[in-house]
Amino acid sequence: MKVKAILADLEKKHPGEVEYHQAVREVLESIEDVYNENPRFAKAGILQRLIEPDRIFTFKVPWVDDQGNVQVNLAHRVQYNNAIGPYKGGLRFHPTVNLSILKFLGFEQIFKNSLTTLPMGGGKGGSDFDPKGKSDNEVMRFCQSFMLELWKHIGPETDVPAGDIGVGGREIGFLYGMYKKLAKEHTGVLTGKGLNWGGSLIRPEATGFGCVYFANEMLKTKKESFKGKKVAVSGFGNVAWGAAIKATELGATVVTISGPDGYIFDPKGISGEKINFMLKLRASNQDIVEPYATEFPESTFHKGKRPWEAKVDIALPCATQNELGKEDAKTLVNNGCICVSEGANMPCTPEAIEVIQQARLLFAPGKAANAGGVATSGLEMTQNSMKLNWSKEEVDQKLHSIMVNIHEACVKHGTTRDGYVDYVKGANIAGFLKVANAMLDQGVV
Ligand code: NDP
Repeated sequence: MKVKAILADLEKKHPGEVEYHQAVREVLESIEDVYNENPRFAKAGILQRLIEPDRIFTFKVPWVDDQGNVQVNLAHRVQYNNAIGPYKGGLRFHPTVNLSILKFLGFEQIFKNSLTTLPMGGGKGGSDFDPKGKSDNEVMRFCQSFMLELWKHIGPETDVPAGDIGVGGREIGFLYGMYKKLAKEHTGVLTGKGLNWGGSLIRPEATGFGCVYFANEMLKTKKESFKGKKVAVSGFGNVAWGAAIKATELGATVVTISGPDGYIFDPKGISGEKINFMLKLRASNQDIVEPYATEFPESTFHKGKRPWEAKVDIALPCATQNELGKEDAKTLVNNGCICVSEGANMPCTPEAIEVIQQARLLFAPGKAANAGGVATSGLEMTQNSMKLNWSKEEVDQKLHSIMVNIHEACVKHGTTRDGYVDYVKGANIAGFLKVANAMLDQGVV
């Protein structure tokens, strides 16, 4: 395989899709050796087939706002690869959504889903619709119009979407309601559903919990733990709050959360009633970061800054892509940070990862560390098929053992000669091999 030639070709075919190129480059560079070791991969054109999605649906979403004005958004569903199971991946509603971002997310999802050991292929979708500041009725009308088109392409054995940025329990509810009406079926076609209508316990907090479980496994290899550590978390969304709760439970003090405008530093720890306060604000669609500083005067708001400048032992970037750059990474290293575990997808830039890995910090890429979310979605699908519900403890225990297994797979494939575990390489190789071998078995399709 000639990584450079494949990437050059990809960039020529899809100019300007920088996030997509970034995600493909990272995977190709780390699997190059195992790919070349098995000539059958090249003969079957595995990479050329893997880097392009199977198909993409693009559609407009017309809806009427509360003032009676017609609004039109653009939406896509990227069905990337279904070699090991139905397409599976979240929906993102955010003004920055474009095909480059959805293709990067869908590509990452293939390997992440493979790592979970559950039978799920990779996909992703979303729209440039911004739920922020919209009324519940506006969000409902948008979701209904979105599903009016999407339902033709999804199904419990075909493609099973879930939430992502801007798509939480409320949106999944509206989407599911419309799907059910159109398809005349009550099936597990979306995950992240409400508990009363097919959802799984632990799903809302699963990504954050899993990110902390994974970091804990990494820490154990250094005879370390969360106990007594200071932790920086970014964002305060679905992933961040689960991570903050679990890190606190394991004995750490979570000292930061953030939003696009800046971050909160709270030396006493962001836990208990403070988390409940923010969840209430979130549920009412309000900004949460600045009001936190007003409500809890022991904390400070750092406008326009990122949480990585705080002196912490562990960093959990849980907000969005490319939110931790080279200079942030240098600051973390200089401040004695020992572990970075990505709760978000691709939150660290390639330059930041280089700094972190060169300094020999423990570093977990999102496709391994945040796989707990989709893994629990997989558990939700299993419960839907079996038409029963597992207890909180059962789901949590399964999630925990999946994260331990992913960690083991990364160590197996990512341990370098000097004993340092390159989790990026380990996750990419482990995720890739399963999908590539399945593609070999299934012929050129
Ligand atoms: P949410 O929309 O629930 O939360 C995102 C959070 O990040 C919000 O608090 C948001 O603040 C904040 N944020 C957005 N942009 C920035 C920025 N530039 N700087 C700092 N904070 C910012 O999304 P999720 O928690 O669901 O997703 C977060 C990340 O995790 C994404 O990368 C997603 O792809 C990934 N992920 C999510 C999974 C899930 O189960 N939900 C599963 C696996 C990965 P505000 O609301 O004020 O804009």
